[in-house]
Amino acid sequence: MFLPTRRQSPDKSLLRLRDNWAEPVNFCVKVTDDGNCRAGHKKGQTYEFSWGSPKSLCTESLVGMYPVLHSLRVFGDMRELGSSKRNVRVYNCPSREIKFEITALYRCNLCGTTLPVSDVGVESHQLMCTKPSFPLRVCESCYSKHEDKTIEW
Ligand SMILES: [Zn+2]
Repeated sequence: MFLPTRRQSPDKSLLRLRDNWAEPVNFCVKVTDDGNCRAGHKKGQTYEFSWGSPKSLCTESLVGMYPVLHSLRVFGDMRELGSSKRNVRVYNCPSREIKFEITALYRCNLCGTTLPVSDVGVESHQLMCTKPSFPLRVCESCYSKHEDKTIEW
């Protein structure tokens, strides 16, 4: 006896996150004030990066600003430290010569579009990866495209 073949439901298709991953947090570090600097920093220089260290950024400053970067990576609110915006923090180098403005850029986890940040937080829709289980911040377009899918790494 043969059972009828069951077709897989088309609206529960699988989205493989590993093939669609966009890094959700990037940093833009801008030199806003310069001075006597052994790393040669000048006002106006900008560095954009995510996990890799940016080329020619002073290593002492990078180490010094790391707690801020980590805090922004987990969506910390910089207003708690006196900043006027939740995703922006000014960092003074250890020699007190160079000022860096650090801005966290939050991106859609699927397409990389920059998500707006308001006083309330990152404005995004949420999808869930089920294997392993963790939330994704996504743009409206990705949300409507993938809301019915099963999402796994
Ligand atoms: Zn998107």
